[in-house]
Amino acid sequence: FIIPDFKSFTKHIEEFYYICEPNSAGKVADYIPQLARTDPKSWGVSVCTVDGQRYSIGKTNTPFTIQSCSKPLTYGIALEELTETEVHKYVGQEPSGRNFNELILDQNKKPHNPMINAGAIVVCSLLKTLVKPEMTPSEKFDFIMNYFKRLAGGEHIGFNNAIFLSEKVSADRNYALGFFMREHKCYPENTNMKEVMDFYFQCCSMEATCESSAVIAATLANGGVCPITEEKVLRSESVRDVLALMHSCGMYDYSGQFAFKVGLPAKSGVSGSMLIVVPNTMGIALWSPPLDPLGNSCRGVQFCEELVKTFNFHKYDNL
Ligand code: GLN
Repeated sequence: FIIPDFKSFTKHIEEFYYICEPNSAGKVADYIPQLARTDPKSWGVSVCTVDGQRYSIGKTNTPFTIQSCSKPLTYGIALEELTETEVHKYVGQEPSGRNFNELILDQNKKPHNPMINAGAIVVCSLLKTLVKPEMTPSEKFDFIMNYFKRLAGGEHIGFNNAIFLSEKVSADRNYALGFFMREHKCYPENTNMKEVMDFYFQCCSMEATCESSAVIAATLANGGVCPITEEKVLRSESVRDVLALMHSCGMYDYSGQFAFKVGLPAKSGVSGSMLIVVPNTMGIALWSPPLDPLGNSCRGVQFCEELVKTFNFHKYDNL
């Protein structure tokens, strides 16, 4: 086993869970009513190692929408289907130093990276327009959902239609980004922007649980091979790129501090979920809806700090 004494490891995870539980900081996202209604006390932690050992504590079977945690996945699928060179003709690799939904492009008039809204919308345009362009919107939805399911080893991946419909009607900023990028010719030729926006909202509205998210994170930790099914879902080159950008850009405008303090690739989403990857070791999924002002889960960030206080998972711990 990759973690020989799994029992004592999970004792620590349990301890971190209880350390973070009373943390009442942060605010649940309220830009749509469906998210505003989430119980701020919801708190779950799931672990899945690269050799398939599992541990969960708290609300780990309650579905939430994956929101921005879809960004590393759609980026990984685009790399897989199109190659790195093709994808990075359209999107950069640089932290933006700004909020996740800021109306801003880099000096080359490309979105800074695929982990913020602008970059993820462009990645969605690549998946729509360059990958299997003959597919109808419904076929493309199935294609992506099927990829997500394979990354999750067949565990719960759903779709929340109420959130999708709400996202669509409270998305002035995302539409602004969409038009701004169309003005700057950020999309491949023949892109139907309206369909791309719908596709982006669909990706954000996919549902997962802590348990299924931990399998996704473990598939990334395992170089693209799902530890549950042993299926190779992504090439290790694609996963390397995904992890590199999760490391530098995955926590919005906290990414630099997170890389400094925690030193692990991670991605957060507005529903309060987080994917954390300990390469070659395990995936961890966290869910706690209250967010800090930068948009990261308060308990989630605290948990990661606790984790690296005890374990030498920080990339530069073993020097
Ligand atoms: N649906 C959200 C948006 O596009 C997702 C962003 C996030 O999770 N931060 O604004």
